[in-house]
Amino acid sequence: MKFNPILESFEEYKPSNTNINEGFIDLSKNENPFDLSLDLKKIFFQKITETNINRYPELTADNIRQKIATFLNSYFSRYNIDLDMNNIVVGNGSDEMISYLVKIFSGNEVIVCPPTFEMYEFYSLLNGFSVKKIPLNTNYEIKDIDKAVDDQTGMIFICSPNNPTGNLQPQKEIVKALNTGTPVIVDEAYADFSKTSMIQYLKDYPNLIILKTFSKAFGLAGIRAGILIANEEIVKQIMKIKSPYSFNVLTEKMVETIIENYNLILEKIDYIIEERNKLSKELGRVALKSDANFILLDFDKIEGITAKAVYNYFLENKILLRKYSGTLENKIRVTIGTKEENQKFLTLFKELISNYDKQIKSYEH
Ligand SMILES: *Cc1c(COP(=O)(O)O)cnc(C)c1O
Repeated sequence: MKFNPILESFEEYKPSNTNINEGFIDLSKNENPFDLSLDLKKIFFQKITETNINRYPELTADNIRQKIATFLNSYFSRYNIDLDMNNIVVGNGSDEMISYLVKIFSGNEVIVCPPTFEMYEFYSLLNGFSVKKIPLNTNYEIKDIDKAVDDQTGMIFICSPNNPTGNLQPQKEIVKALNTGTPVIVDEAYADFSKTSMIQYLKDYPNLIILKTFSKAFGLAGIRAGILIANEEIVKQIMKIKSPYSFNVLTEKMVETIIENYNLILEKIDYIIEERNKLSKELGRVALKSDANFILLDFDKIEGITAKAVYNYFLENKILLRKYSGTLENKIRVTIGTKEENQKFLTLFKELISNYDKQIKSYEH
């Protein structure tokens, strides 16, 4: 048998398999450090007791799509938006949405702006697009990407706040991209931590597609729930190709539970934002400015220390961070945890920095 040759180079795109041992603190995946409270789990459980698990979910998930639209109208009431279910697609994580987007638009090329989330490139290549890379500038911002658009361009992916650099992308630059008329996907997986959104541009730009996820700010990474928000025409096209029951009834009930109680989530978001700002300040110049729930650390800023050594040092101290290769080789991403976790991270970090010439050598390998 013969496999598709494109699969040869695909190992590197997948998240690394870093399920960790007991006693470790995982600050590597940008998850929410707080599990759902027992009270909310009980509400979820009550909903499940009233659900027929033997039946398939509703075919087009109209009920939950309408609930999500209503929730978004209220969550973003400051923007006066008026979404309904025809603007929403729900799926098994926003990754699933990316895999549909690369199927519905024509063109030969997808524009991505590295360093950014790898899955845009992964799904684009998998669907036969070539990937045109327009790197972020030295402030990790997009600049004039509209100039890269030509008749080959199928779509543009922008991540804001960007993973892994953590910064928001300038709305003015996103609007320039939108003005080309090319489909522009803005991935707002972390936008709850910046309290901004491009959602108010939907009514003026039918080519704008927004991705959101319940995995990060809403703390449901284990549940797998992502949403796409766009113009009706785009949603209609995706509904044609969408795997019919990818939003299962358990996920649906969990999302219902969360959006009916989202005031509790807002408290957790504010806690994380406060912790992020505190940690950034303490870390000083090594920390890139972040609008997300993680901070990218740049070890080019400290002479004599390498990201590799820092990563190994923390691993030895039972804290898992995210490391990179290529252009980000000397950077490390740390997810904001609970106060206690962040404190432990910071104490270890300060200890390392003050002693690094003595102890760092042993962590270089
Ligand atoms: C985590 C993340 C997502 C969310 O993925 P899910 O499949 O919804 O868990 C999407 N985009 C970016 C940039 C992310 O970092």
